[in-house]
Amino acid sequence: MSRPRIVIVGGGFAGHNAARVLHDSLADTADIVLINPTDYFLYLPLLPEVAAGVLDPRRVSVSLSATLPGVQCVLGEATAVDVEGRRVTVRTPEDDTVDLSYDRLILAAGSVNALLPIPGVTQNAHGFRGVPEAVYLRDHITRQIELADLTDDPAERDARCTFVVVGAGYTGTEVAAQGPLLTTALIRNRPRLHGQRVRWMLLDKAGRVLPGLDHRLGRTADRVLRRRGVEVLTGMSISEATPDGVTLETGEGVPSRTLVWCVGVRADPIAESLGLPTTKGRIDVDEYLGVPGHPELFACGDAAAVPDLTRPGELTAMTAQHAERQGRLVAHNVAASLGEGDRSAYRHHDLGFVVDLGGVSAAANPLGVPLSGLAAKAVTRGYHLMAMPGNRLRVATDWLLDAVQRRQSVQLGMVRSPAVPLDSSAPELAKSPRPQD
Ligand SMILES: Cc1cc2nc3c(=O)[nH]c(=O)nc-3n(C[C@H](O)[C@H](O)[C@H](O)COP(=O)(O)OP(=O)(O)OC[C@H]3O[C@@H](n4cnc5c(N)ncnc54)[C@H](O)[C@@H]3O)c2cc1C
Repeated sequence: MSRPRIVIVGGGFAGHNAARVLHDSLADTADIVLINPTDYFLYLPLLPEVAAGVLDPRRVSVSLSATLPGVQCVLGEATAVDVEGRRVTVRTPEDDTVDLSYDRLILAAGSVNALLPIPGVTQNAHGFRGVPEAVYLRDHITRQIELADLTDDPAERDARCTFVVVGAGYTGTEVAAQGPLLTTALIRNRPRLHGQRVRWMLLDKAGRVLPGLDHRLGRTADRVLRRRGVEVLTGMSISEATPDGVTLETGEGVPSRTLVWCVGVRADPIAESLGLPTTKGRIDVDEYLGVPGHPELFACGDAAAVPDLTRPGELTAMTAQHAERQGRLVAHNVAASLGEGDRSAYRHHDLGFVVDLGGVSAAANPLGVPLSGLAAKAVTRGYHLMAMPGNRLRVATDWLLDAVQRRQSVQLGMVRSPAVPLDSSAPELAKSPRPQD
């Protein structure tokens, strides 16, 4: 009898964990194939530290082949799933098409930026989901400070030194908290800019920072942000974005060359493309992470609408904590569907959250205990090191270097155009050079 083939779409928190556990349990009896557009697992929670110049981009990029020996890693993007024919179509980075049949499919394609219909945002905002975007943002901020140093026009200098972040969830809050530390480091060696006002603004429609999380985390983050001079505008968004600035909902114009868009996420569109029932774009699964009526189909992580058995009637949150646990469980349940062990239902109580605010600041609530300052920082960094599937020593070394040395403030040549389309995905950024400005 031929070996069953298990195909996993997506090598993030859910897919990487699923592949690892499946390899441990079924390597001798099944072929495990992982499709991912990059050859690395991206540790998203540390991406703000890449944008801030604390971590080298490779630190958050953990090699799939090195951490998943024995798993066939297919470099490409799943573009279609033929549910009846049990086949996945994959587009490789060089635009070739590969068709893969499967006996079991795990959809773990994660999420993408949520776009709102605000004029100019798609064309002028920076997204924040991948390594190229984080490096791009760091280059862009560095460039703004360098160009502000060049100009004799005070209005242009002010605009270049104004940075607007929309969305005060964990991503926006971390970016806005790290931002002033980066710009202060950039300005240190530029005497012409000493005394220049550098504005960092953080906006959110909600009434507070970190709206989805424990209010004590929000209070800590708010305090740190304000202490660093960040203008925190809650109950506020923008009504328009242009290359020269944003208009706040109040009608006030804010000249700026930098808009960072951190407003929410939605499931990867491939979840809806299967033509199966979805909730808020996430593919419906039962508590065993199986797609009802399709014993060969499973989904987990941000792309799946997983019922939260600890909060009846609700779905599990789109967090790394859930995704990695769902990835491990889905692997056991897929193995059970092939006759290895028994399946179990997904049930996980939130263990708390960590938010790194840069410098020596963080906010955390491990097991519901609110922490701030150095204690939170230690818990946050310890958590990230434990949660990363690789590169731990390298990450710890970068943190140590950042503590004892000045940040390297150079551009890496990612910024070619003043316009930064928000919907530019990582491969597009790499593939389509734009004209030099
Ligand atoms: C900047 C940022 C910071 C975050 N910080 C935190 C945090 O501090 N704590 C926390 O709990 N959560 C955090 N999150 C959320 C957390 O990262 C996600 O909930 C988690 O990554 C979801 O895991 P996943 O496996 O479902 O998706 P992902 O980890 O996003 O992995 C999905 C994978 O699928 C790939 N993929 C997508 N489409 C396809 C396709 N068509 N074919 C093949 N592969 C595909 C993607 O490239 C990616 O590798 C953060 C998110 C972001 C963007």
